Amino acid sequence: MKFYNTLTKRVDEFVPYEEGIVRMYTCGPTVYYYAHIGNLRTYVFEDILEKGLTYCGYQVKRVMNITDVGHMTSDADTGEDKMEKGAKREGKTVYEIADFYTKAFFEDLEKLNVKKPEIVEKASDHIDQYIKMVEQLLQKGYAYISNGNVYFDISKIPNYYELSGKVQEELMVGVRDTVENDEAKRNPFDFGLWFTLSKFENQAMKWDSPWGVGYPGWHIECSGIAALYLGEYIDIHCGGVDNIFPHHSNEIAQSESYFGHKWCNFWMHGEHLNDAKGKMSKSNGEILTISTLEKQGFSPLSYRYFCLGSHYRKQLLFSMESLNIASSSYRKLKSKVQSIKEEGEYQEDLALSYQEKFKEAIGNDLNTSMMLTILFDVLKDDKLSGLTKISLVKSFDTVLSLDLLKKEEKVDDDLDSFVQEKIQERILAKQNKDYQKADAIRDELLAMGIRLKDGKEKTTYERL
Ligand SMILES: [Zn+2]
Repeated sequence: MKFYNTLTKRVDEFVPYEEGIVRMYTCGPTVYYYAHIGNLRTYVFEDILEKGLTYCGYQVKRVMNITDVGHMTSDADTGEDKMEKGAKREGKTVYEIADFYTKAFFEDLEKLNVKKPEIVEKASDHIDQYIKMVEQLLQKGYAYISNGNVYFDISKIPNYYELSGKVQEELMVGVRDTVENDEAKRNPFDFGLWFTLSKFENQAMKWDSPWGVGYPGWHIECSGIAALYLGEYIDIHCGGVDNIFPHHSNEIAQSESYFGHKWCNFWMHGEHLNDAKGKMSKSNGEILTISTLEKQGFSPLSYRYFCLGSHYRKQLLFSMESLNIASSSYRKLKSKVQSIKEEGEYQEDLALSYQEKFKEAIGNDLNTSMMLTILFDVLKDDKLSGLTKISLVKSFDTVLSLDLLKKEEKVDDDLDSFVQEKIQERILAKQNKDYQKADAIRDELLAMGIRLKDGKEKTTYERL
């Protein structure tokens, strides 16, 4: 099987260190707020990857961290502390914030049928491991202490920019505007391994260390947790494209300096979800979450289906209209599957050849739209018995995870109450002679594929 490797910038044959076993590390969320649907696209991609590898016969050992300490609003250790920001916003402690949003994150994953990784570890539970690694990095001369903090010295790593393909000189041009000036650093791109001099008063999470009371840098978490649970070598490391620089570049620098050898062969990154304004992110103010979609009547799995329609390495343009199209074709697909009678002979040879094709699509850099095409081919194939079709659907759905055979649940009720609310709002707007608002509500629903029909007595609606 072949995947695109960010490290080599080409599609490479995938060969794990140990035959039959894949050690996979996936960066987890910083739990200071809800995940927006753009973040969740990355977790859907990683889920398909894990399940695809399993489908092809690998045993996958997957680890994910939960970042509950040390992550700043800028990935380059500048700006505000994200957890403190969340705590301040909600008048809670950082621990309460972390617990609440960790739970919310896994609820979202469950709704999207994303399997929880075998090992999930909180960053704040492994302080001893980070201290051990930082001590080693200091001893080996890869790190230095300055102004009370410990920094990684990137000048010691000749291939520091290999993963990102960035050029230091070009980065330097913008450095004065974008990177907060930390006088203690030798190079503006050196990064923090341990902070004792916090710029945040009342920093809640802090621990004793050989360098004084403080907290770890964000990047060392992943290196530390990966080393503890996956050992010295890992096969695939994933994340969103945002993680490539500096986060993953820093992880490589730390881990390879610590172990003294190459650490991870394959780096895979999921692309952005964009809306009309550009990349969707938390910093854009209002964020779209799975609950927002549910309130508007969409099943979370129609969002999963929407994601699968496009390749994980392509930017995907999101709009309610396009989600609505995906949602309607997802509903059609489900009803088509559920109309098949599970009868006739089981045709082993034909089934095997379809399963092989499905594996090829997985090994073709995780080509999800090709996987869906194969599924549609199965449904259309007159030579296949109902029993063979259903058994193939079950088999493919272990990867696609679209609940194709599960009967529809209460999604329509949610949609109905949402539309009824909008109809009431529109009546009120009309009474107030605010026709602009009334029209806006009508158009908003239309964009979601819902057409209002004004009758004599009441307004009804239909789904397009
Ligand atoms: Zn990470």
